[in-house]
Amino acid sequence: MKNAVHSVLALGGNLGDPKANIELAAKKIADLKKVKVRGLSPLVESYAVTASGIDETKPNYINAVIKVDTKLKPKKLLKKLRKVEADLGRVRLERWGSRTMDIDIITYGEENITKKTLTVPHPRAYQRAFVLVPWHLLDADAVLPGHGKVSDLVKPIEQDVWLVK
Ligand code: ATP
Ligand code: CA
Ligand code: CA
Repeated sequence: MKNAVHSVLALGGNLGDPKANIELAAKKIADLKKVKVRGLSPLVESYAVTASGIDETKPNYINAVIKVDTKLKPKKLLKKLRKVEADLGRVRLERWGSRTMDIDIITYGEENITKKTLTVPHPRAYQRAFVLVPWHLLDADAVLPGHGKVSDLVKPIEQDVWLVK
C-alpha cells in the first residue's frame, strides 16, 4: 500500500473466549479496507486490573499487539476499530470493566494526537506490560514516541504478564 502509515494496535479482553476473540478481531482488522496487517504478536496473559488495582476474582486478560499499515485517518481508524469491538460483543459499562474486546491505537506513525476522542501515542501504554511485552516480542526494535525504546520500558514490568501456551 503506497503512502500508508504504520500503526500499532493493542487488543485485549477477559470475557468469553479471549484467545478466539483476539484471532477473530485480527481477521476483522485484516478485512478492513485501507488496512494491511503486518504482524500479530504472541498472546500474553495477566491479572485483571480495575480502577482499584489487581482483581484476581475477575477472569484474566489475554492481550496481543497488531502492526498495521493504513491509509485511514486516525479518527476513521478508531471508528472502524470500535465497530470491530462492537461486533465482538463489547458492552461499555464501568471504566476499565471486564470486556470481550478492547482495541486501542498505541501509535499512528510518529503523530501526536490530542483530540477529545483520541490521544496518540496512547497515554498509558508506556506503563502497561500487556501492551509493551507483546509489542517487544513482535518488534525488538520498537520505539514508543516520547518514551523511548520498548526494550527498555518492558524491563521493570515484564513480570506482570506471562506467555499464553
Ligand atoms: P484505556 O484508555 O485506559 O486503555 P479503555 O481502553 O478501557 O481505557 P475505553 O472505554 O475503551 O477505555 O475507551 C474510552 C475512549 O477512549 C474511547 O471512546 C476513545 O474515544 C478514547 N480514546 C482516546 N485515545 C484513544 C486511543 N489511542 N485508542 C483508543 N481509544 C482512545
Ligand atoms: Ca484500553
Ligand atoms: Ca479502548
